Amino acid sequence: MGTEHIRNFSIVAHIDHGKSTIADRLLLMTGSVTEREFHQQLLDSMDLERERGITIKASAVTMDYVHEGQKYMINFIDTPGHVDFHYEVSRALAACEGALLVVDSSQGVEAQTVANAYLAVEAGLEIIPVLNKVDLPAAQPEVAAEEVETILGFSHDECYMVSAKSGLGMKELLTAIVEKLPAPLDRSNEALRALIFDSHFDGYRGVICYVRVVSGELKTGQKIMLMGSNRNYNVTELGKFKPQMVAVDSLGTGEVGYLIANIKSLADVTVGDTITDDANPADTPLPGYNPPMQMVFSDFYPADTGDYPKMKAAFEKLALNDSSFSFTPQNSPALGFGFRCGFLGLLHMEIIQERLERENDIGVVQTAPTVSYEILTTSGEVMRIDSPSQMPDPSLVAEFREPIVRLEIIMPKESIGAVMQLTEQRRCKLNKTEYISPIRVMMEFRAPLAEIVYDFYDVLKGATHGYATMDYELLGFEKSNLVKIDILVNKVAVDALSIIVHRSNAEARGRRLLIRLRRAINRHQFEIPLQVAIGGKIIARETIKAFRKDVTSKLYGGDITRKMKVLKKQKEGKKRMKSVGSVQIPQEAFMTVLKNE
Ligand code: GDP
Ligand code: MG
Repeated sequence: MGTEHIRNFSIVAHIDHGKSTIADRLLLMTGSVTEREFHQQLLDSMDLERERGITIKASAVTMDYVHEGQKYMINFIDTPGHVDFHYEVSRALAACEGALLVVDSSQGVEAQTVANAYLAVEAGLEIIPVLNKVDLPAAQPEVAAEEVETILGFSHDECYMVSAKSGLGMKELLTAIVEKLPAPLDRSNEALRALIFDSHFDGYRGVICYVRVVSGELKTGQKIMLMGSNRNYNVTELGKFKPQMVAVDSLGTGEVGYLIANIKSLADVTVGDTITDDANPADTPLPGYNPPMQMVFSDFYPADTGDYPKMKAAFEKLALNDSSFSFTPQNSPALGFGFRCGFLGLLHMEIIQERLERENDIGVVQTAPTVSYEILTTSGEVMRIDSPSQMPDPSLVAEFREPIVRLEIIMPKESIGAVMQLTEQRRCKLNKTEYISPIRVMMEFRAPLAEIVYDFYDVLKGATHGYATMDYELLGFEKSNLVKIDILVNKVAVDALSIIVHRSNAEARGRRLLIRLRRAINRHQFEIPLQVAIGGKIIARETIKAFRKDVTSKLYGGDITRKMKVLKKQKEGKKRMKSVGSVQIPQEAFMTVLKNE
């Protein structure tokens, strides 16, 4: 088969606009799943999405479809929807010629619709705009079409109006996939080049690579070479997801599928690497990807020091399946042995944290997430720090630089005032304001990542009654007037509570922090001073008064089981505490330091 009857496409959309439902509907229409499976998936879609969110793996499904008597092979490559996983979206798009850009017609264009549309345009894909959920009473496909036209430049009549739920308009959409999306270039006569666009680790079968053959042909038994790492392997199995795994003898030019080749560890394959034939190698590899950019860092310590080896084993297992998560041993004077972990974003961090606690039963004490900073030292050296504890002596710092992002927010025009107020508080600079329809606007800012990475999204939602959506992209590092705040608990500096903040609000932040700490730390049998210091100079102080706490004193003497229960509960509460000197600091205290309110 030539490439003429192959179509490779992705679906991009803002979360909940119907990407999964459209994919499931297409699987049903092409006979890849049964009616029962389709309805099951619809019912389970929330849970499924959750699980998918946690595995964060793009998947690729091959469907067979007959159009006007001609058989087509349609490959759908799934992409994650959340901003944290932008880079995964880009790498999936590199394996496609086309994309469906899905917009919920009751919601209109949202921030991630725009961000994902840009990624598809950058990847040079043919885009079909799709307005979904036209069955909803609140659907306004005309308004949504107008927004798509204003902001993304597609004309009204290019848009397909569908209901993935009822199936309305879906036949026309499937026809458009076949008729409008281009076939892959036929490069079957050239040397083999296949792009690894994803990989995952299977407990039984080892590493499974997702590949797109760009030129030549992949065959089972073939000796291949990974051009980036210069490693050789023998292909033991090739196949496709239909959606179950089906083995095939070969994958031709333009085709998408999986490859198994006795690769032992995910660390041995770099996603973005090019596979070629060992005996007849291609001259140049395919353009690869930039490595994923870790934006957020946080320290994880076992609440119980004895759990350190268990935590290490758990992280090794997690990293095996997720190459964008990293961890390195860390020793904090206050908290003992733990790990410094890097994540793509906050959602990614929460997923890892949840898996660690849920699957491994380890009580975790985690420090507030921070971004990474650049420091130009007085000796002219540029260094990266991703923890306040790595900060060199202030006298050695010539320039302190922080990460800056381009932030896009889409909102109803009534919310402009509230958004302006919030963004000003967070040191954002307005670049431009654009009306995407008579009633909705898109605002673009230059924003310090540190100001928006933590609780910004929640505050934004609150300030706009839930209507605003946002997306951001890293621009680079910029000089900024930053200082490190140290916190002393009972006269001992607790390194894990240190934060880096802008000079202009250092003092106010420090004071608010002490007040929250005072509330988070229980009274002890002695008085505990809490202090804020900048460069060794104390700038604020609070005190936790002494108190003798006996939680069982309130209970009537007789009921021993109840007394036991209370003691047990108290013990569990302790599980997520750390003692610093003789002071017990609960987990919440470490997380409280970045809250801005
Ligand atoms: P995703 O986050 O983009 O993958 O969105 P989903 O496919 O999970 O859909 C989000 C929600 O919208 C689910 O509750 C779906 O059942 C619902 N949904 C998807 N398509 C339609 C549609 O055409 N009509 C209606 N009424 N609901 C839909
Ligand atoms: Mg989904």
